[in-house]
Amino acid sequence: MNAIPKSCDVLVIGGGPAGSSAATHLAQAGIDVVLLERAIFPRNQVGESLIPHIWKFTDMTGVTKKIEEEGFLAKAGGITVWDNKIHQILFSDFGYTRPGLHVERDIFDNILLEHATSSGANVFNHVAVKNIDFSDKEWPKVIYTDKRGENNDDGVIRCQYMIDASGHSSFLANQFKVKQTISSEYNFLSLWGYYKNARFAGVDRQSYSADALSEVKPVTFVMSVENGWVWHIVLRDKTSVGLVVPSDRTKGMDKQQRELFFKQTCSQLPYLSKLLKPAQFIEGSLQFRPDYSYYSNNICGENYYCIGDAAAFVDPIFSHGVQNALYNAAVATLAIKESLKNKKKRLRYSQLCESRMQQFYGFSRALSLGDFGSHGVNPDLVKSLMKTLPPLELELILVASEMTNRSENFRKLAREAGVLGQFDKSFSKNKREQIDALHF
Ligand SMILES: Cc1cc2nc3c(=O)[nH]c(=O)nc-3n(C[C@H](O)[C@H](O)[C@H](O)COP(=O)(O)OP(=O)(O)OC[C@H]3O[C@@H](n4cnc5c(N)ncnc54)[C@H](O)[C@@H]3O)c2cc1C
Repeated sequence: MNAIPKSCDVLVIGGGPAGSSAATHLAQAGIDVVLLERAIFPRNQVGESLIPHIWKFTDMTGVTKKIEEEGFLAKAGGITVWDNKIHQILFSDFGYTRPGLHVERDIFDNILLEHATSSGANVFNHVAVKNIDFSDKEWPKVIYTDKRGENNDDGVIRCQYMIDASGHSSFLANQFKVKQTISSEYNFLSLWGYYKNARFAGVDRQSYSADALSEVKPVTFVMSVENGWVWHIVLRDKTSVGLVVPSDRTKGMDKQQRELFFKQTCSQLPYLSKLLKPAQFIEGSLQFRPDYSYYSNNICGENYYCIGDAAAFVDPIFSHGVQNALYNAAVATLAIKESLKNKKKRLRYSQLCESRMQQFYGFSRALSLGDFGSHGVNPDLVKSLMKTLPPLELELILVASEMTNRSENFRKLAREAGVLGQFDKSFSKNKREQIDALHF
């Protein structure tokens, strides 16, 4: 059992996509980084649909080849059935040359974490951070419990900078008591589970049995339900199905009742019920995440950075979560690298980083939530991001925003930012195609 060092330059809490990528960026720059992960990897995680925007971040850390070699399912785009209107988008119509992916997250996240180790990060599984003592601003103390032995010993490690990538546990936001839950109809919970032998939606809008996966490219299938939505994401040997509903929808239900509600809802929905008709639910696979729409207005400080889901969470309808995590890892580590070179400016770097990350979260939130009100979105920051996004990405997102009724605010902001006009002519009909029927 390797000993955990007594100090390091940067301590990362959590080994999900945010934490592992941050550790990789730092280690590759020759910075002494320690990552403590509470679970033993590979560990399960939800969030299996990845959009092609992730590749630019995996290229930066050099992990792309390892992801490609794993042979995850390449997805061609998405189909939505929203308020009975059917839309399809295909990445290739926009000029994307690389696919989206449907990934088993235990395997995907493990590839990223192993890459951090091989890049020189000091990674420890089964070590949970318990508390952070900021009384010494130059060298805060991180108190952890080492669960690798029989004794669950507590230990201390000092670091100059800390990255909280603890996912929805939001370790620092909870310690600082700054985590805010969105209290509106857009505060959702999710129930998800896995099926064997489900049919999948193909790129040609037909449905296929799982054994056709080697011949037909799948798409992610999303459908509105009451005030929420469902997803169907085919994986290599099972299918992930999730139901997102307002948080009070399952109030008072116990585990069994939730499972019944989930199965009944899925079996009654048009299209989805056809995809699931020959399928068997994998018993015990149902999971539940309540009250998951949250944010914080304090995610970076002179000696800490909260990234990925530790900083905020947006309803994942547009599959932005992993991309956000990778983006945050890139900008936070840039700020830390500069701060290590010039400590006098570290507060300024952290403020710049906070503004960048809030901009990105605001963008996702404006896209995914209908009436976001003032819930953690700074419209001016979002508009300035819209003006600087690569046209390829902006166009895809703008078209995707037309596939649901969630993005009124987003389109309003895009209009105000003056970025809609450039696509008026190039928005060919087939890129934003509304279709009459699906042949499931
Ligand atoms: C229902 C649902 C569906 C989603 N669907 C999608 C999707 O289709 N596409 C997409 O891109 N995103 C999706 N997401 C979001 C995506 O899963 C997350 O954004 C992504 O996992 C964030 O990565 P992360 O590294 O910030 O956090 P995580 O992946 O959660 O990793 C955090 C890690 O920190 C560890 N940790 C926590 N506390 C401690 C501690 N005290 N000490 C040490 N370690 C600790 C945890 O064990 C965990 O491994 C979905 C999310 C939900 C809830």
